[in-house]
Amino acid sequence: MGRPHLLGLTRSQLAERAVEWGFARIHAASLWNELYLKGRRAPAELPPHDRMPARFLERVFAECDFDFPEVARETHSSDGFTRKYLLGLRDAHRIETVLMRYSGRTTACVSSQVGCAMGCVFCATGQMGYTRHLTAAEIVAQALHVDRVLRATAASDPQVGGATPALAEPEHASPHHRHERLRNIVFMGMGEPLHNYDEVMQAIDILRDPAGLALGAQKISVSTVGVVPGIRRLAAERRPVHLAVSLHGATQEERAALVPAARKWKLDELMDACREYTATLGRRIFFEWTLIEGKNDGPDHAHAVGALLAGIPAQVNLIPLNPTFGYDGRPTQPAGARGFQDVLAGYGIPCTVRQRRGIDIAAGCGQLALNTP
Ligand code: SAH
Ligand code: SF4
Repeated sequence: MGRPHLLGLTRSQLAERAVEWGFARIHAASLWNELYLKGRRAPAELPPHDRMPARFLERVFAECDFDFPEVARETHSSDGFTRKYLLGLRDAHRIETVLMRYSGRTTACVSSQVGCAMGCVFCATGQMGYTRHLTAAEIVAQALHVDRVLRATAASDPQVGGATPALAEPEHASPHHRHERLRNIVFMGMGEPLHNYDEVMQAIDILRDPAGLALGAQKISVSTVGVVPGIRRLAAERRPVHLAVSLHGATQEERAALVPAARKWKLDELMDACREYTATLGRRIFFEWTLIEGKNDGPDHAHAVGALLAGIPAQVNLIPLNPTFGYDGRPTQPAGARGFQDVLAGYGIPCTVRQRRGIDIAAGCGQLALNTP
């Protein structure tokens, strides 16, 4: 085991360490407040005080790492709603994190790995290949970074980050909403979160802590390509997250052509795991479907999805294909997407079309890679 990182410890783990080192729990609680409520980012930003004495801090930094990824590049979409951060990790690898602010929601789209091993043909991250898992601390740091950006923007700008249409909605025009905080996290950045299950779940425990970022149970979504053992574990452990499953094909053959991981976790097995998940937890699953013109966007495909999802509490999110360097398919046009929705409506399956946002800065679904704007 390497040295622990402060941001990779839960509040109770931090308190246990403090006690092991001969300090009071209250010191650990004070340090936790500084990290998660005051947003301190470096040892130099942590001056000692009565409840957090210098001796304690010395021991903490002797035992634990504490640093943040540096922001190597920040890009703002012309849509006014999306910002992308290229973050440099300690070993010089880089990841991307996206901040989205629309319809009254603030959401961080976080990465769970450097690259991805799953190889989906239309995904820029998949096209890069896999380098390594992120640690829980590196995941928590992404959320804290976005939370800090939100708080800084809200404090400096009476319009809460500019007079963009959605942000000018009445509830957000109120001065009472100027303290904008991060409210939602989606694991839809780079990587396959259920391939890095332990670190992702540790990060989620930290992010949910009511004395920290306090993200609500309904506010965290984990999106998986269909890692069957991970889905079964989520159900067995009753993890309080929303589950999204990337489907893209409604037969084994069509799915495997787009999602190579489907050769390992077959469609039948995946649907069994989904049924087990919804039955155990009494929750619906969100199914994602990237719409590629002429490939998986016809009425026949929509009927196949309707039949496949029969009996599973489900909602379908359609994502018109975003461009990537390594795949030359085209997105389905809006009329085609509406047709797909209509067919699913006939099966009683709610279905939304994801808005295209952040495409100019390559911050859309599946566009996160390191060679883009
Ligand atoms: N690895 C996870 C989460 C990250 S991708 C997963 O695959 O579910 C988030 C979503 O974006 C997935 O549904 C993925 O299939 C979709 N996606 C990937 N590349 C895309 C692209 N080029 N256009 C549209 N959606 C894409
Ligand atoms: Fe990995 Fe998800 Fe991209 Fe597939 S779509 S390559 S699983 S990040």
